[in-house]
Order: sequence, then C-alpha cells, then structure tokens
Amino acid sequence: MSTPQTTPVTSVTGDDVPTLLVKIFGKDRPGITAGLFDTLAAFDVDVIDLEQVVTRGRIVLCALVTAPDEKGATAGELRSTVHSWADAQRLQAEIISGIGDNRPRGTGRSHVTVLGHPLTAESTAAIAARITGVGGNIDRIFRLAKYPVTAVEFAVSGTETEPLRTALALEAAALGVDVAVVASGLQRRAQRLVVMDVDSTLIQDEVIELFAAHAGCEAEVAEVTARAMRGELDFEESLHERVALLAGLDESVVDKVRAEVRLTPGARTLIRTLKHLGYQVGVVSGGFTQVTDDLKERLGLAFAAANTLEVVDGKLTGRVIGDVVDRAGKAALLRRFAAEAGVPLAQTVAIGDGANDLDMLNAAGLGVAFNAKPVVREAAHTAVNVPFLDTVLYLLGITREEVEAAETHSPEDA
Ligand SMILES: [Mg+2]
Repeated sequence: MSTPQTTPVTSVTGDDVPTLLVKIFGKDRPGITAGLFDTLAAFDVDVIDLEQVVTRGRIVLCALVTAPDEKGATAGELRSTVHSWADAQRLQAEIISGIGDNRPRGTGRSHVTVLGHPLTAESTAAIAARITGVGGNIDRIFRLAKYPVTAVEFAVSGTETEPLRTALALEAAALGVDVAVVASGLQRRAQRLVVMDVDSTLIQDEVIELFAAHAGCEAEVAEVTARAMRGELDFEESLHERVALLAGLDESVVDKVRAEVRLTPGARTLIRTLKHLGYQVGVVSGGFTQVTDDLKERLGLAFAAANTLEVVDGKLTGRVIGDVVDRAGKAALLRRFAAEAGVPLAQTVAIGDGANDLDMLNAAGLGVAFNAKPVVREAAHTAVNVPFLDTVLYLLGITREEVEAAETHSPEDA
C-alpha cells in the first residue's frame, strides 16, 4: 500500500479527497467482485480499500473508491449504475459519500484470540466490552476455526498489549473461555520453536505414576507429585523421593510404560501442523528420558531432554543420573534449544501445566499454560483450558484450514 510510486499516491489516500464507500450484500456466487468492479471501471475511479467476507453463503463486499471526477460522470450516475447492476444481480447495494480514507488505526496493536467451547453470545459481548473499556478498537474479526473449539481472532488497535491482556485475563476467568492476547507484528509470524512439557501436557499421564503402578507405590508417589506441582515442595527433592520408591523395578517395565503413555488429544495434529509450517518442536520433562526419547522418535521431534533413571543389572536403582531437570533446568533447556535452533528467545513458544514449567513459560516469547494448575495459569502469558492441545495453534494465528492442509500433505503421520 505504501510502495513508492511516481504518481502522487497522496492524492488518492489524502484526507481531503471525496470518496465513496460501496457496500454490497447478498447471496454469494462467483463473479460478484468482477461484476462490481467492471461497473465501477466505467467511472475511472481508484480503489482505496477493499474488504470482503462470506458468512454462511452471504457476501459483504465493501469497496472504498475515489469519487468520480465531476468533469466527467457524476457520483449520481455512479450510484444509479451500481444500484441497477445490484438489482439485476438480486444484491443489495449501499453507497455512502464521504471524505478521505479510513480513520488511521490507533497506536498499539494486538491480536486477541478467543476460544470457546461453545463460544456464547454472552462471552463475546463481555470480551468486546472489555476491549472497548481499555480504549481498544476492534478493527477486524475473523474465525480461525470451528473445530475442536470455536476460535475467533480480533485485531485490536488503540491500546497497549499488556493492559489489554490483564483486562481480558480477568474477564476470561470469569466467563470460562480462553483468551490469548499477543502483540501484532513480525514477531508473531516469526515464531519458530515450540517447546512443550510432557507430563499432563503432551501426554495425559504423569510418567512417574505409571512406573509407580508397576512398583505398587502409586498412592505415595501421587501424593508427592501433587505437592510438587502445587509448588509446595522443592522439585528436586520430590523427584529423588519418588524415584527412590521405584528401586528394584525390573528394566522391562520401561517398555510397558512407553506403551501405556496416552498422548493428549490434538497432540499429533499440533506437532504435524507446526512441522509442516516449518517450526521446530521439542520437549523438556521433569520425567524420564526412558520415555521422552521414545516420544521424540515416534513424533519426529527436534529436541528432547529429561532426567534419566539409573539402571544397574537390569533393575532401576531408585536414583537418577546427572543433573536434575527441574524448574530452572527447563528454562535453561528452552534457551539451549533456541540457541541450537538459531531462534531468538522472543520467537519461542513454551507450553506447560505445572509449577516447574513457570520459568520456561516466562522465558519464552509466548508462554501457554495448558490446563494448568491455578498458580501457573495466573502467571503465564496466556492459558488454554480446553483439553485439546491443537487449540494452541489458534493462539499462534494458525487457522483450521492450515491445520487441514498439513494433514493432507503428511497423511502418513495421521
Ligand atoms: Mg506437566
């Protein structure tokens, strides 16, 4: 739009030029846009803005054009010609005279993604009112997806991203919908690395509990896990405490646990789509490489890191080998993966559910709390509270159509 040209562009988009807003509404069919502009071409007008949406077979086409030069055909003639064309097409036309282009958008640009399951009119009203309440203006709205949730995106200007995020986070919690607010700009489309937690994020299980079931110490382990995830216990201590309960387990249990792991709904779709769009995907886990290495291979991930259970003479010793991947360790691994992938930290996305994911979520360009504990949900940039991992795609502005395109191109991963 702002490409330098030899002709004076300012004479077209300047504030003082008489313009006509031509709005066409009716049943969509091929040829409407061509027909309208064929009609307008006879008046030698220039196009300043053009927007079209089709909703359930109804088209709304808005064209902002320069008014005809009064020395030739008049605006009145243009009006009657467009109305005749629209009548013949059984479309409704509205033509509004005015001056200049659209009002310039305010400073501060954000994308607000709303996920509803379902998305109610009440929620939509409340979100829109909050946006207005902090001085924002909704410039555009479009649907990203209707499955597995209804996802709509609002392009908002006139307010900074942070106060908008704060205002909408409160509203979202009250309404029970998920709302993500991200700053517009190149950064968003440049996101190129997604790092996920494993237990209760990529998979539905807590891996240590699967091991514990084989060792007959589920209750003891689950209790320690719950306390750690609530942030009541130091993660490293709790890990050692729980792993010690597994001492003596036969190594063959590893294969059983790998087979028991259940991926979170939407996990394959998320990973397939991200890879198709050129993202690198990795996992970091306070669980065990005995499981994450298998997931890395099965899902074709670029990175995986976790703790390693020590095995001696075919038995788990009840100890882990090497440095423990804890809360700080997860954030350090995100940084390491980003460096290895050649992606600035600001262009990374982290997804997790537990207190030990918080440093990683805050270090990433976008931190997504996925069906997280309240302490995590409150601290993260954004939260998803529907149990489908592929909904994270919509927070990145990826549409269902792009998801389906990825599905078509890599059916072997389905
Ligand atoms: Mg987790």
